[in-house]
Amino acid sequence: MDCLFCKIINGEIPSKKVYEDELVYAFYDINPQAPVHVLVLPKKHIASADSVNRENSADIAAVFEAIPKIAAACALADGYRVITNVGVHGCQSVKHIHFHLLGGVQLKESFN
Ligand code: AMP
Ligand code: ZN
Repeated sequence: MDCLFCKIINGEIPSKKVYEDELVYAFYDINPQAPVHVLVLPKKHIASADSVNRENSADIAAVFEAIPKIAAACALADGYRVITNVGVHGCQSVKHIHFHLLGGVQLKESFN
């Protein structure tokens, strides 16, 4: 499958890894939107939040179990934001579900 994030997970394309376990991979976004901008994703290829179902939801749960560990490692004790973009209106550019972990600064309330 021609998926950028599958290639990053399997090491075909380099990344600055922040965290990895059996089900989850996390790396720094190449175009950071905040002082800390990490992408957290399941190793399993799931297209977007719109494709989550009973068969793959454990992989998404694993992402959310990893997020507090990653936040602690990135010194985000004052808080952070977790965002996933879906489809055209959501401005999703990579069709492998990923969660943007943003922090290290006071974020604005607005989402757009
Ligand atoms: P989205 O627009 O929600 O699909 O997010 C895709 C994110 O992937 C963007 O924030 C990009 O900056 C980031 N990105 C694209 N290619 C790479 C890469 N090779 N390494 C790290 N981040 C990337
Ligand atoms: Zn993929």
